[in-house]
Amino acid sequence: MKFDPARAIQNLHQFGEFGGVNPSITDSSTFTFLGEKTMEAAFHGEAEGCFLYSRHWNPMNKYLSDALASLEQTESAWVTGSGMAAISATILQICNSGDHIVSSAVVYGGTYAFMKNWLPKYNIEVTFVNPTDIDAFKEAIKPNTKLIYTETMSNPLLQISDIPELSKLAKAANAKLVVDNTFTPMIFSPKLLGADIVVYSMTKFINGKNDMVAGAICADQSFINSLIDVNSGTAMLLGPVLDPLRSSNILKNLHTLHIRMQKHSQNAMFLAEKLKEAGVRTIYPGYPEHPQHELMKKMMNDDFGFGGMIAIDLETPQKAAETMEIMQSKDVGYLAVSLGYFKTLFSASGQSTSSEVPADLQLKMGLSPGLVRFSMGLDHNMEITWKAIHESLKEAGIIK
Ligand SMILES: *Cc1c(COP(=O)(O)O)cnc(C)c1O
Repeated sequence: MKFDPARAIQNLHQFGEFGGVNPSITDSSTFTFLGEKTMEAAFHGEAEGCFLYSRHWNPMNKYLSDALASLEQTESAWVTGSGMAAISATILQICNSGDHIVSSAVVYGGTYAFMKNWLPKYNIEVTFVNPTDIDAFKEAIKPNTKLIYTETMSNPLLQISDIPELSKLAKAANAKLVVDNTFTPMIFSPKLLGADIVVYSMTKFINGKNDMVAGAICADQSFINSLIDVNSGTAMLLGPVLDPLRSSNILKNLHTLHIRMQKHSQNAMFLAEKLKEAGVRTIYPGYPEHPQHELMKKMMNDDFGFGGMIAIDLETPQKAAETMEIMQSKDVGYLAVSLGYFKTLFSASGQSTSSEVPADLQLKMGLSPGLVRFSMGLDHNMEITWKAIHESLKEAGIIK
């Protein structure tokens, strides 16, 4: 039987003080010790069950991290103040000056900018390759390659990375495979497919409320320990820790993630089928003709669908802008970046979340200037939603 991430979370037993059904929020930055010896051990990471200081660990973050480790089937996890904090801390923990990374070219705009513009300051070199071309990854590997980086489902083109194949390459090169699974929690379990480290922006589907930014790093115990080592850990020393008040909210929202993912996927599939019938150029991995549809079916967990993301090609930025404004006026959803919200969100990727990627590379990647990305909401009645989208597409002159 395939792994069931929903059951892994449902079966957690995490209680609060006084038997609360939710863990108690620990509102403390520092913690007392009964003996000096125990404090000394805590500094060396050797005092099991003791907390030293909140930038290192705190009880609420530990509860959320334990839940995420169950979800991803990793030994451990650590939660960060944003998705970018999870990504940058992971990369900087693995790579030293002089090291090399092979990365998918179709990654989140902030990740691309970090690798392209920021890492060279520390003499870390990145080769960007087409995420669907395993040979391109293979050819790009050098003796100093320490990390292979990809997103399970790419933003915004919704390509699927072949995690088992990338895992083989990483192992052969003695490099770590880091996978951003932000678009597809529960749908994919990258660790079980061969990834070494799974990173998340929890800002999106995992929290699902668009009321905060947060991130997570899911990995084996030794990696998490190295990340928070008091003398050399990137997370401990750069300090991108998540506020425990926020952890508490995310943990509660994590327990409804499986139902939300199912509904997001169901609504996206409905819309994708209507768009296809209407003759709109649409990218959705649930289509049998999507180039990685079979690969996705092979890699995905059961019951959570093909995800809540859809991209449609409206050809020009002008047509895209007009259609989005009409859709917003008809209450289809909001013209906004981000994803995984209960309302539908749409934005023109080339001019927003992928604007860090230069225009010529956008074209090379296959990112049309009129590409509009949808994060399908949790709409109860998709017939009504489709009627409003259909009218919007008509008014903007996209369809007859
Ligand atoms: C949003 C996003 C990020 C960055 O996360 P923040 O929480 O905004 O820092 C990284 N990767 C992907 C795929 C994203 O969608």
